[in-house]
Amino acid sequence: MAWDFSTEPEFQEQLDWVEQFCRTEIEPLDLVFPGAPYSRDPKARALADPLKQQVRDRGLWALFLDKDLGGPGFGQLKLALLNEILGRYRSAPVIFGTAAPDTGNMEMLAAHGTEEQKRRWLPPLMNQEIFSAYSMTEPQGGSDPNLFRTHAMRDGEEWVITGEKWFTSAGARADIIFVMCTNGMFVVPGDAPGVEVMEYPALHNHIRYNDVRVPADHLLGPENGAKVLAQRRLGGGRIHHAMRTVAQVKLAFDIMCERALSRESHGKTIAEHQMVQEAIAESYAEINMLRLLVLWTAWTIDNSSTREARTQIAACKYTAAKVLREVSYRALHIMGSLGTTNLTPLQAMWASAPTMAIMDGVDEVHMVTVARNVLKGYEPHPGLWPTEYIPAKREEARKKYASLLAADPDLAAWADHAARATARGH
Ligand SMILES: Cc1cc2nc3c(=O)[nH]c(=O)nc-3n(C[C@H](O)[C@H](O)[C@H](O)COP(=O)(O)OP(=O)(O)OC[C@H]3O[C@@H](n4cnc5c(N)ncnc54)[C@H](O)[C@@H]3O)c2cc1C
Repeated sequence: MAWDFSTEPEFQEQLDWVEQFCRTEIEPLDLVFPGAPYSRDPKARALADPLKQQVRDRGLWALFLDKDLGGPGFGQLKLALLNEILGRYRSAPVIFGTAAPDTGNMEMLAAHGTEEQKRRWLPPLMNQEIFSAYSMTEPQGGSDPNLFRTHAMRDGEEWVITGEKWFTSAGARADIIFVMCTNGMFVVPGDAPGVEVMEYPALHNHIRYNDVRVPADHLLGPENGAKVLAQRRLGGGRIHHAMRTVAQVKLAFDIMCERALSRESHGKTIAEHQMVQEAIAESYAEINMLRLLVLWTAWTIDNSSTREARTQIAACKYTAAKVLREVSYRALHIMGSLGTTNLTPLQAMWASAPTMAIMDGVDEVHMVTVARNVLKGYEPHPGLWPTEYIPAKREEARKKYASLLAADPDLAAWADHAARATARGH
């Protein structure tokens, strides 16, 4: 059976454990000590580290990495199923070693690093002894590499990096920053002299690289190879975000359905009002369309490569943003006034929808990618008529029956009548 939507029982058992663990351990931690799993404070670490250890003991740590790099080697499909649960809880990804931006950076390092670079940075990143950031976007050029200016100059056994980056997530607290220069991808220690983190924005940092010196072996991948590395980096990141979005929209859906059954208006529950039913029905279909697109894409990556799946990944990116926007809005609306407050997850979820449409490249760029790649499989029709122009196709088809039509006047009359009837339709 080639098409199979079931989850193997052993992994389902793991997923059941994850669901229970998130509900009983991670959610309470998030509610009482938000941010603890990301903190370097020893008291916060004492709360979060035992949970991370439990994840390790279950063999679920850093699920996206292959076995030889220290992960369980489960691949993207299983990561997608796991993220459908983790994405519901704020700090679950970090407790499972699958949090952005480190996951994408680790994947890039694993794919393009030398043995020495992997040995030096992968294990501490995996163990969250260090944290990383990814510095690509520039203030004047957004994420269009053709407009980037940040550049590295070779000086003896060092590279000297000069430039300015915008919106480097968690850049201020990163131990190492992957900096995309016009002539290569470089690993820059966060505390290197010349790394200047601006005051704003607070979380996604504006960073100036003022003649920052790094050793020659901090070039990741080939010289001038940054674009290829960036594709690898962002492809992984995008699909992981889409996986977690499935979790978010399922949460919105659960909230919506519970509310629909709980609230009465004009003599019946709002679940019995047809427009509320429409919102539920549309959301149900959209969530499952997104989910299947994401799972199919994850499966494609596992069975080929991120590169092979790039059209699907791009489609996941803007579809995730769209479904998040639609479903979270409907859920918020059905929740009424309470939905507009920050007393449920809905307001923040809806406010995050525009962010989803911008981060990892704006939706428009991904739509262009999809359209361009899809169109490569098509050609213009050769003559005046489109391939599916029915009269021309019928003329062709009549040639197949030419001898029969010539021999049998009844069949010929039937065929002529059918052709005239179609034409009369317009
Ligand atoms: C939450 C978040 C986290 C991020 N984290 C990082 C990070 O860690 N590292 C990093 O380097 N960057 C990061 N970014 C930056 C992100 O990559 C950029 O915001 C994004 O690529 C768009 O660039 P911009 O913000 O300059 O928007 P602009 O490029 O100015 O785009 C603005 C608008 O112009 C239009 N537009 C732009 N380009 C096109 C086009 N080609 N076709 C049609 N219309 C277009 C669209 O309507 C778009 O929304 C992050 C962004 C967000 C929101």
